[in-house]
Parts: sequence; C-alpha cells; structure tokens
Amino acid sequence: MREKLVVIGNGMAGMRTVEELLKIAPEKYDITVFGAEPYGNYNRIMLSPVLTGEKTVEEIMINDLDWYKENNITLYAGEDKKAVDIDRRNQKVIAADGTEAEYDRLLLATGSNPFIIPLPGHDLDGVIAFRDIADVETMLQASKEKKHAIVIGGGLLGLEAANGLMKQGMEVTVVHNLDVLMNRQLDEPSAKLLEQSLVERGLSFKMNANTSELKADENGHVKSIAFSDGEELPADLVVMAVGIRPNIELAQKVGLHCERGIVVNDTLQTFDPKIYAIGECIQHREELFGLVAPIWDQAKVAANHLAAYGIGIYRTQATSTKLKVTGIDLFSAGDFTGDDETDDIVFQDPKRGIYKKVVLKEDKIIGSVMYGDTIDGSWYFQLMKDGTNVADFRDSLLFGQAHMGDSGHAGVNAAADLPDSAEICGCNGVCKGDIVKAITEENLYTLDEVRASTKASASCGSCTGLVEQVIASTLGGDYTPSESEKTICACTNYGHDQVRDAIKPNNLKSFHAVSDFLEFSNPDGCHVCRPAINYYLLAAWPGEYEDDMASRFTNERMHANIQKDNTYTVVPRMFGGVTTAKDLRVIADAADKYDVPMVKVTGGQRIDLVGVKKEDLIPMWKDLNDAGMVSGHAYGKALRTVKTCIGSQYCRFGTQDSTGAGIRIEEMTWGSWTPAKFKIAVSGCPRNCAEATIKDVGIVAVDSGWEIYVAGNGGIKVRVSDFLVKVATEDEVLEYTGAFMQMYREQGHHNERTAPWIERVGLQYIKDEIVENAEKRKAYYEGFLLSQKFSQKDPWKERASEGVAQNDFIPLAEV
Ligand SMILES: Cc1cc2nc3c(=O)[nH]c(=O)nc-3n(C[C@H](O)[C@H](O)[C@H](O)COP(=O)(O)OP(=O)(O)OC[C@H]3O[C@@H](n4cnc5c(N)ncnc54)[C@H](O)[C@@H]3O)c2cc1C
Ligand code: SF4
Ligand code: SF4
Repeated sequence: MREKLVVIGNGMAGMRTVEELLKIAPEKYDITVFGAEPYGNYNRIMLSPVLTGEKTVEEIMINDLDWYKENNITLYAGEDKKAVDIDRRNQKVIAADGTEAEYDRLLLATGSNPFIIPLPGHDLDGVIAFRDIADVETMLQASKEKKHAIVIGGGLLGLEAANGLMKQGMEVTVVHNLDVLMNRQLDEPSAKLLEQSLVERGLSFKMNANTSELKADENGHVKSIAFSDGEELPADLVVMAVGIRPNIELAQKVGLHCERGIVVNDTLQTFDPKIYAIGECIQHREELFGLVAPIWDQAKVAANHLAAYGIGIYRTQATSTKLKVTGIDLFSAGDFTGDDETDDIVFQDPKRGIYKKVVLKEDKIIGSVMYGDTIDGSWYFQLMKDGTNVADFRDSLLFGQAHMGDSGHAGVNAAADLPDSAEICGCNGVCKGDIVKAITEENLYTLDEVRASTKASASCGSCTGLVEQVIASTLGGDYTPSESEKTICACTNYGHDQVRDAIKPNNLKSFHAVSDFLEFSNPDGCHVCRPAINYYLLAAWPGEYEDDMASRFTNERMHANIQKDNTYTVVPRMFGGVTTAKDLRVIADAADKYDVPMVKVTGGQRIDLVGVKKEDLIPMWKDLNDAGMVSGHAYGKALRTVKTCIGSQYCRFGTQDSTGAGIRIEEMTWGSWTPAKFKIAVSGCPRNCAEATIKDVGIVAVDSGWEIYVAGNGGIKVRVSDFLVKVATEDEVLEYTGAFMQMYREQGHHNERTAPWIERVGLQYIKDEIVENAEKRKAYYEGFLLSQKFSQKDPWKERASEGVAQNDFIPLAEV
C-alpha cells in the first residue's frame, strides 16, 4: 500500500520537491497538496515580466491543474484550503474550511511573507506588497486608473516592481533608505550606473529617505507619502518591497522548533522526524533563503529522503543575482565588497556604462559584480564555485573568457568550453550536462523544446543566451534560432531585417555606426548581435568593410574546427572532390611532420587532418599553402564543399560532366561568406550519387541539361530541396547558383540556413526574383562576383605568410 505524503504550500519549493520525488519514486506516495492560492503551481520569479506585460499569467504556470490530475495528486487550492492546523499526534492536516488529510510524511513549504513596515498608514487601501498574482493584479488595475506610484525599497524586487509599473504608464518614485540601490547585490559604482540608467528610463528616486507616514484620502485610500525632511509626494499606490520573513506561523502554532525560520537539519527534516520543510520558510545552519537556486538543491535532497533513499545532504552553495529589467545587464555573486585580505580587480568605463569588479582572496575569486557587460558573469561564478586558482591568468581575468585563447570572443563559444557540471540556469538549477543530455537523447533542436524539457531559461530568462550557446555547440550548424526568439538580441529592439535594412540607406559602415544609429541599449553589442552585424556589414560593403575577426566564432577565428579535446581539424580544399597524387603526398607529409593522430575522409569529399595542436596550425598551413592548397573553410559560415559524382567523363550512366561543372562552381564560390554554412553538390544523372537534393544548391544533370534544386538540408532536420529551374548550359548553372547565393547572402538572417530561410520567404518569392526576372538574376549574379573579388582570399595564406593576427595561436603560457 502506498504511504501518504501531504504538502503544505503549493509554491515553487513544494512542487519542485514533488517533481523530484515523482522522478525517483513515483509509486511511493499518495500525494495531497494544500495551497492558499487559487491556482496551479506558478513561477513566482516571473511575476515581474507579468507586471511589465512581457508574459501572461498562463505563460508562467509551471504545473497547471491537469498536471495534478495526470499525476494523481489531490490539490486543495484557495483561501479556504489554507492549512490552519496540524494534528501531529494523529498525523493529519486541517484546512480553514475543515478539509482534512492524513499523512505518513508531511512537507512544509509555506514560503515567506513580505515584510510590511509598521508605518502609520501601512494598512490603508492601496498599500500592497509584491509577492503573488493577486498583488500583480492589483498593480495592473491601479495602473489603468491611477497615476502616482511609490515603491518603498530599492532592492531587486522593488526595482522590478517600479520598472513594471512604469512600463504600465505610471509615474513611479522609488523610495530607498540608503544612497546605494540594491545594496545587498551591488557596490557603489555599479549601483550609481544602475540608478543613472533607470533615471534615463523615467524612474524617479528619493534616496536616503526616511518615511514618516502614509496619508489617507477621505475614503481610507492612500493619497500621499510623507518624509521626515518634510517632503510629501502624491501616492495612489504604494508597493512595499522591503524584505521577506519566513512564514512560520503554522509551524510555530503546532510546536515545531523555529527560530527565524523553521529549523531543519542537513536532510531538511524538522525536529519532528515525520515532518520535512523546504524553501523560504526554513532556517538551515543559521541561514535563511530568498532565491530559488538553493531551493532546487534542497528539493533534490528532500525528495531523496522522502523516497527513503537516505543519501544526500544539503549544503548551502553560493548564489548569483541578476535583475530582470529588460535591457539592463547586471550580475552579482558572492562577497563583492572584500576586506583587508582581498584584492579588487576593477574595470570601469563610465562612458560606455560598463563596470566590472572581481574580488580575489589568495588568488581565488570570492565575489564579482558587473554592470553593462555581464557576459562573463557565469564564468566568474563557475571559477568561484570551483575554487579555481586564477594566478596564471589574473592579468587577463577582467578581459573575460574571450581572452583565454580558445574560448571565443565575448563568450560566443563560452558554452562549448564549460564542463558538464557547470550551472547554466541558476533559477532552475540546470547544468550544461542536463541540457546536452536532453538535446541528444530527446532530439531537441529549438530553444522552446529545450525549455520545455529541462526548464533551462524558462524562469527569469537571463541565461537564454547561454542556453542558446549550449544548443548551438551541441547541434553545430544545425541550430537555427526560431523566428519567435528574435529581435536580434537584448541589445536592441530591432529584428534582423530591420537592422539590415538600416545599413545601406544610412551608410552605416561599422558596428558602432549601426549600434549608435539604432540606439542599441548596449552600444558594444553582445555575442549574438556582433557576429550577425559583422556579417551584414561584410555582405553590404564588399571591399570596404573590414571583417572584424574578433566578432567571429572561435572556429572562424582559428580557421579550423575545435574538437572536444581542444585540438583542431585542418581540411584543405579539394575542388569538386578531385585530388592528385602530389597533393596527397603533401597532406601525408604534413600528417607525419605534425604527428597528426587521425587522417579522415570527410562526407564532403576531402581529407581531414584531425587532432592538430593549436601551435602547429600556422606552420601546417604554411606547408600546405606553399604546395598550392587553400583552406577548405570547413569551419565557417561560408561555402563549404561542392560535392560531385564521377559524371559522364567515366560513368556509363552520366549525362553531363558533373565533376567538371562542380570544379567550376567551387572555383567561383569558394571563400564566400554566407549567413550560415552552405553546401553544393552536382550529380551527373538522376541516380544522384552526389546526394544533391539535400544540399543548399543541388544540381542534377539530365539528358537535355541541368536541373537546379535549392534549400535542401541533410542535418538533424532533413529537408529535401525544392526544384528551382531547369537550364541547358553550365554557364547558366553558374549564373543561377551565384544569383541564389547572393540573394541568400543579402536576405538570409545570420545563422539561418537556406532551408528555414526558404520556408520563411517562400519558394515562389525566390522564383520571382531569379527565375522570372532575368534582370534581377543578373544583378544578383554580378553582385556575387563583385563580392568574390574581395573574399576569395585564402585565410591560411594571410595568416601563415602575411602574419595576420598570429597572437591567437600562441598558447597563453607564452604570452
Ligand atoms: C516578484 C518576485 C520576483 C522574484 N524574482 C526572483 C529571481 O529573479 N530569482 C530568484 O532566484 N528568486 C526570485 N524570487 C524569489 C522566489 O520566487 C522565491 O525564492 C521562491 O518562490 C520561494 O519558494 P517557496 O516555495 O519557498 O515559497 P512560495 O513560492 O512563496 O510558495 C509558498 C506557497 O505556500 C502557500 N502557503 C503559505 N502558507 C500556507 C498554508 N498555511 N496553507 C497552504 N498554503 C500556504 C503560499 O500561498 C505560497 O503559494 C522572486 C520573488 C518574487 C515575489
Ligand atoms: S555527425 Fe559526427 S562530426 Fe557531425 S556533429 Fe555529429 S559526431 Fe560530430
Ligand atoms: S549520379 Fe549518375 S553519373 Fe553520377 S556517378 Fe551516379 S550514376 Fe554516375
């Protein structure tokens, strides 16, 4: 027979424990839940985006009512179902309306209560806290009818409330009793930058304020707030966000040992062995809790003990904080104030609104605070949690992970370098390994799917970029962010097309020209918009715009693909998949000379030198280049290969010279940068041995000429290409191929392969532009050829013989 588990509190901690329990011991208990709020289980963190209007209440439900049914959980929800007593002797819980439930084990997860300062007038109508859906509904209603809002408390919650009310059209003043906002998370310089930025957005502040009274109108509704300096401000709504207190009322009433919270041991057990407690209501080793990250750890431990596995103890881990105000990047973790025994490393650029501080003790990070550029926050946090000794790279620590050699600019590839144990989503306690496992085992390939499966980025959303990086690094070139996920990124409200459309007419020729013109909230951009805009500029201004290699992905910067053991692969180009004995000897010599552990024939018909050490890249390229070989761009958002079959030269079925045509096409297209990787294949007859119908451009010879297919994809999501046109001559094949590529180069979104592009714009549109309209086709083709004049430069030659940016290749220890 199943035992009975009763949970009091239908919030984040209680239901997370139930979820963990269902994973490991789904049959052990009949579960009953009492919740004082009339809903399923929702994500309290996301109340701020509901207030700003970025999310709806439905969108923040973690588990709706059906979930309880599906899992045979009895839910008693609503004010009258609030648990008001526990009969510990007879092991039962009693709700306000008399509903009873017996238990073998009881879990208390009653959360906390907002602290209300007992000022004169604190109990007037229109004075509320910011804790639950009801509070948000009150605020939304007030914003429709009233004008002046006061938020008391300049902490995380207060600023999110103030931002939300301002977004709803109210005039908001934040009243704070110190002169530093978010004083528990920020130091003075970062707090000042934050204040300045919030003032620019329209918030008002009264700092160092000493509130004396809330005054009422004739109906008992708040009308103003008075301060001890004599000032008085109008107030139609007052939100108090000045802290929380563990909700221990019920536990105290039934005699459980409580101090500031319900006291629990390392297994989350209270002083009554049948009763566990978790979340904001508890006190563990003197500590109280107010963020979800530690609560997820607690949930795992509590579930484990409720399942009677008896292993696992809870230990408090460091937590990090971010503010959920769109467009404001702020990160803080650990002890960022420091003392006599610590060293502060600080970077400050007030003009660009950037501040970073890392606090070190004996060469280990013990805290960090960052404003404006928080891209390395998770990296510092991980170094801090791992207790990594940073002495070796202390000098470059503040420049971020990008300057650690292989890690890519501005964290572009940060995710690829993180260990599986690295926490990606602090809100939901999801590690990189969990995400990678879900992607590979469940065949996920969009952010939404990963969110649904792992909950990563499903809460405050500030780790979305990192989750996307994990998806991208796991799926490689098969990842295309979905349209619903864009604007380009949080630096701007504009989407890809809007940014692109601004570039040419306004003569924008650098990243900063674009970010200034479009008033990016982060003028230096981030790992998402920088590479995208770098590409758009490159496509818009051939020969004029200089490629910013720092904005490119690691593989592109290194002109080689990084592998999981941090070695690289080197792939020389073989036009049309044809090689010679001489070239093979050169490759073999390079393999011997540089001790290459594996020589592999690739699917694109060339030879891959796998396992090359970083410091050998340049000399190896030089050797290959001196023998006449160029890079195969096997790493780039660029033309990769033109795969061919043997064709009419030798094959008895062949109708045309597919190999010769393939070589010509590759000679025309190599070196071209495209929004995402681009593959071409040419088959000599409809038997299609070169698999041309799953390529971006696929050409299939027929008796009377060539059929051209476009937008195929052979990756995770296979897409058979669409028939575009049939032509008679090889020259026409070149013209159509160049025109199609140029159209895609000019109109595809960065990172979007031709398959999703064509599904977005429609095949007919492509046909209208380059099949029906010969003039436009010619213009696209000429545009392509013009741009090729500047892009057919062999990067190996530039790097190996001309000495361009060699520093990337020198191992860090030698710098
Ligand atoms: C607006 C807002 C924004 C936040 N943003 C962040 C953030 O960005 N990052 C972060 O880490 N944390 C954030 N938090 C904090 C986070 O939401 C809490 O740490 C978390 O919800 C605590 O979970 P809990 O289950 O202990 O409490 P709760 O989620 O509050 O759940 C407790 C539940 O128990 C119910 N209850 C209480 N007593 C009884 C009773 N006697 N009978 C029945 N039911 C009862 C309550 O009604 C409540 O539904 C935010 C909180 C708020 C309010
Ligand atoms: S298919 Fe092979 S080479 Fe390609 S990503 Fe997967 S494991 Fe790597
Ligand atoms: S596609 Fe046709 S021409 Fe090419 S190798 Fe196969 S059978 Fe021969």
